[in-house]
Amino acid sequence: MYDSVIFDHDGVLTTLVELSVLREATWETFATLGVSDPDPDHVEKVVIHVTPEDVHSVADTYDLDAETLFRTRDELASAAQCEAIDAGHKTPYDDFDAVRRIDAPMGIVSNNQQATIDHVVETLDVADLFPTAYGREPSMTSLQRKKPDPYYIERAMDDLGVESPLYVGDSDSDIVAAHAAGVDSAFIRRGHRRDHTPSPDPTHEIQGLDDLLTLDGVPVLDSTETAR
Ligand SMILES: [Mg+2]
Repeated sequence: MYDSVIFDHDGVLTTLVELSVLREATWETFATLGVSDPDPDHVEKVVIHVTPEDVHSVADTYDLDAETLFRTRDELASAAQCEAIDAGHKTPYDDFDAVRRIDAPMGIVSNNQQATIDHVVETLDVADLFPTAYGREPSMTSLQRKKPDPYYIERAMDDLGVESPLYVGDSDSDIVAAHAAGVDSAFIRRGHRRDHTPSPDPTHEIQGLDDLLTLDGVPVLDSTETAR
């Protein structure tokens, strides 16, 4: 039996934002830091899937401090996503309420910014449902700690006081991070993953959050109990 369920956020609990939202925030980052005409290739390097090497090489090119570049980029990307949430462009998936029938502690571990995750938890009023909810802190240290590193999953397990969670994600890095933390994974095949072959193999594959309720080992409220 799993003693808890921990979720990735983007593409699992809430829909993805258009890449253009993150791209625009990155252009705004350069403008904010006084770089009015950056090379589009350099901007592109720090939009998503950013590595410390990317940040350093782009910062060096424009004589910027790498930490400042990254923090500004994270703050603006988070602000843009919070706006998208408030405008109803980034929403919980239709099957979100299924998680309310899970009868075990739950948490969130996301590679998104902590400010984005905090905003979602507050907006959806789900702090009780997810007593631990990690995003990344807006510093370059977080780039070493984000998934596929198990760092934040292990912290969430400590917070919840659990040992055998199921981790639910929509990316290969989610599966790698879960297995690195020594826990089972469930790959959720949302629409944007229709043709994806997960690697490594996840422990389970599900089509949506409803499927979690029929998965072996996931504790579920019985039909007489009110959803959380
Ligand atoms: Mg995701």
